[in-house]
Amino acid sequence: MKFRFNSLVLSVGLIALIAVSAHTQAPDAAKPKLVLFITVDAMRPDYLTRFESQLSGGLGRLYRGGAFFTNAFHDHAITETAPGHSVTMSGRFPIHTGISANTAGVTDTTVSLVGAPGLGASPFRFRGTTLVDWLIAKDPRTRVLSVSRKDRAAILPIGRSKQAVFWYALNGLFTTSTYYASSLPDWVNAFKARRIPASYAGRAWRPLLPDSAYHEPDSVPTEANGVGFLFPHLEPGAPDSAAMALADFPWMDDITLQFALAGVTALKLGIGPQTDVLAISLSTTDAVGHHYGPDSKELHDQILRLDRSLGAFLDSLFKMRRQKDVLIALTADHGLTPYPEVHAHDPNNSAIRVDVRPVLQRLSNSLAEAGVPGPGFSYSFNTFRGNGFTFDGGVLELDKRALSNAGINQDSLVRALRVDFLRVPGVARADRISELAKADTVNDAIARRWLHMFADDEKAALVVTLAPYNYWLTYTLAQHGSPNDSDAHVPILFYGDRIKPGRYTEFARVVDIAPTLAAIAHVIPLEKLDGHVLQNAIK
Ligand SMILES: [Zn+2]
Repeated sequence: MKFRFNSLVLSVGLIALIAVSAHTQAPDAAKPKLVLFITVDAMRPDYLTRFESQLSGGLGRLYRGGAFFTNAFHDHAITETAPGHSVTMSGRFPIHTGISANTAGVTDTTVSLVGAPGLGASPFRFRGTTLVDWLIAKDPRTRVLSVSRKDRAAILPIGRSKQAVFWYALNGLFTTSTYYASSLPDWVNAFKARRIPASYAGRAWRPLLPDSAYHEPDSVPTEANGVGFLFPHLEPGAPDSAAMALADFPWMDDITLQFALAGVTALKLGIGPQTDVLAISLSTTDAVGHHYGPDSKELHDQILRLDRSLGAFLDSLFKMRRQKDVLIALTADHGLTPYPEVHAHDPNNSAIRVDVRPVLQRLSNSLAEAGVPGPGFSYSFNTFRGNGFTFDGGVLELDKRALSNAGINQDSLVRALRVDFLRVPGVARADRISELAKADTVNDAIARRWLHMFADDEKAALVVTLAPYNYWLTYTLAQHGSPNDSDAHVPILFYGDRIKPGRYTEFARVVDIAPTLAAIAHVIPLEKLDGHVLQNAIK
């Protein structure tokens, strides 16, 4: 009896051991040791298709060898950098991440930069969790590095977790804020000592390939406000000014990637057994896109140079880490709308610049007359202020207290304003969020995208949408930020051992990336997500 009893215990134990092994070890053996999350700021998906034959570097490698979703979108209305980056690794829309606009992004006066001048920044507005939190919850050994030229692009993908998060300070070095650390680690100081940014002083940006490789005209005076729209573009001669101007040159991306590689070595990312995260956001495509537009020779050249920089980066990374241990995702934080005067690849022949200043000037005047205090009407780019309101990128915010103190009926004010906006040529619609909640959100993408920004009329009294391809008159460079497809359409790409390469035409959203990566890394999201797993791309 005794023997049989022991034998039974042994058998049960063995079965339990096999069960545990089958449940955790077998799948975990296939999980990535490093998730490389690349965000290319303002990258339209057609940059990959248009320039494919010339992409011999990293972009080409990922595009040809990865799973590429051709019908992919940021499915929210304010397609700016901060909200876009808050979505990438959280799997949730801005309504749930709490990041609704660049102006309410990461700037934080309660913290300061470490070893650099400039405004402090932190994720204090960000709500909820990200892939990083899910990985750490499963395995606290998880290591994380996030880098970008922009603070918001380095900070927001990671969420609130206090990790190695670095961005470029305009004095030529990478910094973090006191939210994360009180001093810079040795490897960051060592990178600074190489003085790479200053070494670009006096450097000229000329096209990478012979002229015959570019079909775009260089001489388009609409670009860059008609100033300096011709190649070559020159870095200032003084090292400090060159470091500051770097943001507008292709080599900023190259430096960001070099910095990331130094971090991979220093932080020992990707050697396992846990899954680490390297998030890189590359900002120059946005700067070049804003200055010269998506159809410019400059943008074409920027993509070629990004392709080469990314190629060198991947070659180095795969020498340091086994390629099969690395899972790559690539997307953008938003797209870009061509200049209304430039007609190349988009159906924007009827695009115009829309002037809403008279409506807002009248609003400010009438509120002032009604006794609402304030400094009067003013604007800078697309941000308009008047007595009792701000209007930023199509969103009208009312100072409800000031208006009710002045005895103004806000409901009738907003109704009258809506009619006023709709009279402006080029305005497509002006909506209240409470009314959009009744819309057919399957077929009405604009309504759906606004509802992924705001829950009610509390923050946005009225949201104004321009007709596709139209521009706000007051912002003179190339624009994004609208709920229209030219700003919302982005690439979604996965690359790695567990990925089925190919072209996928199903509707996909950036909120779907984080749950897909979580599924491949065998971690469970810690909260309800807006996205779902893009199962078809997983082996
Ligand atoms: Zn951006």
